[in-house]
Amino acid sequence: MRVDVLIVGAGFAGAVLAERSASAGKSVLLIDKREHVGGNAYDELDKDGLLVHRYGPHIFHTNSALVSDYLSRFTDWRSYEHRVLAVVEGEHYPIPINQTTVNRLYGLDLDEAGVAAFFERVREPRDPVKTSEDVVLNSVGRDLCDKFFRGYTRKQWGLDLSQLSAQVAARVPVRTNTDDRYFTDSFQKMPAEGYTKMFDRMLQHPNIRVELGADFEALRDRVTWDRLFYTGPIDEYFRFRHGKLPYRSLRFEHEHRVGVDRFQSVGTVNYPNDHDFTRITEFKHLTGQQHPGTSIVREYPQAEGDPYYPIPRPENQEVLRRYDVLAKAERSVFFVGRLAQYRYYNMDQVVAASLKIGETVFHDPTLLM
Ligand code: FAD
Ligand code: UDP
Repeated sequence: MRVDVLIVGAGFAGAVLAERSASAGKSVLLIDKREHVGGNAYDELDKDGLLVHRYGPHIFHTNSALVSDYLSRFTDWRSYEHRVLAVVEGEHYPIPINQTTVNRLYGLDLDEAGVAAFFERVREPRDPVKTSEDVVLNSVGRDLCDKFFRGYTRKQWGLDLSQLSAQVAARVPVRTNTDDRYFTDSFQKMPAEGYTKMFDRMLQHPNIRVELGADFEALRDRVTWDRLFYTGPIDEYFRFRHGKLPYRSLRFEHEHRVGVDRFQSVGTVNYPNDHDFTRITEFKHLTGQQHPGTSIVREYPQAEGDPYYPIPRPENQEVLRRYDVLAKAERSVFFVGRLAQYRYYNMDQVVAASLKIGETVFHDPTLLM
């Protein structure tokens, strides 16, 4: 079989590039080894009729008007600002750590300036800030670090904060005000009918053929193409020539509660120091769905299983660098997305990177209009 463009992986990276390629007049074959499109953002109705995210909670947020406008061609939106509480010694506190967290935890009544002075007093200055431990100690000191970050991180990554690059813990800000939103991006919203419906619309183009349950390995020598966009794990593409890049995995435990309208007061509750799971998410908060029951998911981190998280630490970057050299030498093959670029990307960052590559490859600035 011959196509202009072969795309491996039907997540955000693959779907955006399929849509961009098709709009540029190319014939596209998009394959995924899973039985559905959407990658890790896939959502579906569970057996009780609630819209759930099979691979854990996905909350859309971006500061990019370009990304927001592009996706808005394929979906309407529902406004949603995510809020998270962390359970510490049996009590619920806002995370990111903010004024309320500090005052409730230590029985204080500080205003914004007071909380800033408090952080100044308890922080352990670090210079340079290299690891995730440096990030947290440098901003909130040891007690808050141990209560909110160290246990969660050990569970999530199987590593100590000091073994992870700064960017991991730096994802979670620290605030002196009472803002209790998890994100502060200018666009915070969920696709009104879910992610999968949005993907279906992106891929509804006569030039796009989608094959599910199709592994690249099996097709590799059967399909010829002018360009290949590869969005799976980069080490796998090169048959692990430079060794395995570690990806952290998760086991998701989905549960439905009959007749329970609300299981918890916010979308996600984190458990930094208790239980084997890191967090519980209740989907109705995210989707706004009306239903007499509710569905939740618990996330249990594990080393083996589907690759979900690249693990940002210097030794892995070193292996990645060697794969990047191979990638650059591969003619007409482009490595895009969280697994192929081995970057801790959010959805919007994958969309932005994919739009950019699409534009570069097809040399057509109107593609972005
Ligand atoms: P993926 O979605 O991983 O898609 C890659 C696809 O390639 C997969 O479907 C896979 O089956 C397929 N594939 C791999 N190898 C092969 C092969 N050999 N042959 C055929 N197919 C193959 N981002 C946010 O912005 N907000 C959030 O709230 C958020 N929450 C998250 C929660 C969890 C638990 C996880 C794991 C991620 C979360 N993310 C979130 C990140 C988000 O999932 C990613 O940024 C995004 O889905 C990555 O898209 P992608 O196309 O790069 O990769
Ligand atoms: N983190 C933590 N405690 C929390 C929330 C986050 O220690 O209550 C750390 C942890 O290392 C986590 C990282 O910050 O992996 C990034 O958190 P985020 O919520 O962005 O993780 P994701 O949603 O990507 O799983």
